[in-house]
Amino acid sequence: MSITSSTRVLALLGDPVRHSLSPVVQNAAFAHAGVDGVYVAVRCARDDLVGFMHGLSRAGGGGNITLPHKEKAVAVLDVPSDAVRRTGACNTFWGGPDGKVHGDNTDVDGFRRALNAFIEGSAQGMRVLLLGAGGAARATLMALLEEGADQVVLLNRSLERARAVARRIGGPRARVANGVQELREQSFDLVVNATRLGLSPDDPSPLDFDILSRAGAAMDLVYGGAPTPFVRAAEEFGVRATDGGEMLVQQGAASFERWWEREAPVEAMHDAFRRSRSG
Ligand code: NAP
Repeated sequence: MSITSSTRVLALLGDPVRHSLSPVVQNAAFAHAGVDGVYVAVRCARDDLVGFMHGLSRAGGGGNITLPHKEKAVAVLDVPSDAVRRTGACNTFWGGPDGKVHGDNTDVDGFRRALNAFIEGSAQGMRVLLLGAGGAARATLMALLEEGADQVVLLNRSLERARAVARRIGGPRARVANGVQELREQSFDLVVNATRLGLSPDDPSPLDFDILSRAGAAMDLVYGGAPTPFVRAAEEFGVRATDGGEMLVQQGAASFERWWEREAPVEAMHDAFRRSRSG
């Protein structure tokens, strides 16, 4: 479909955005579905966020929000979803026919769908170790609790941040570990890395990888061209593991569905992601 004066503009707003694969994945989805939209990545300073979100929404478009603006974006929304309210983060916005700025956090749905595909079922009854307490960890915790996980143990570098997340989202099924030493003898059905560690080859590991030897499965939210250190370590113990590639596609698919109110062409999105990841 060619770009005309009625084409909807959807933008990824963040800083940096140059590494993002979302434009490739979303434009492939738009072309496959035959919708009249274009998706671009815009490097956006904190002070420009409000203007961009209002302007794009009023023009009938919308977009995604990435680091470091997911929390600030919440304040711009007129109509936040339940996931936005509970996680305090927004990664998807659009202008509604009511003239209001709507927003959601599709990292919650994205994690849930990726997990369901990975374990071929739900987290019902599982005991999960969740590393991290940032935006991605909050979305993951919400999804795990909604899926019926029995217990989620949070482990994070700054203890206070983990406690705040558990208070905000957790309830009685979320517990904060005071340190890695208290987990030494424990085992988990699933270990999730929702820290940012693993993106750069110089990163330290997010925990003593020995804990992975007692895990049923391991999921990294970090993704890259090669297996991440977390995925590699789990696989060396013979533990099934996956990186954040599937979640990236699935949160994008959920965003597509918010903007276009129709099912996303997930296979076309997978193909575009695979091509750009290996290219
Ligand atoms: P964030 O809000 O900045 O949180 C970063 C987390 O990493 C915090 O828990 C932080 O601990 C921890 N951390 C950072 N440096 C550390 C260090 N040196 N040692 C120990 N812990 C450290 O980031 P986010 O938005 O949650 O994103 C986290 C990761 O998830 C990123 O790699 C992002 O790309 C990925 N992600 C992937 C998807 C996907 O679709 N696959 C979606 C969302 C996010 P403190 O609290 O102690 O600072």
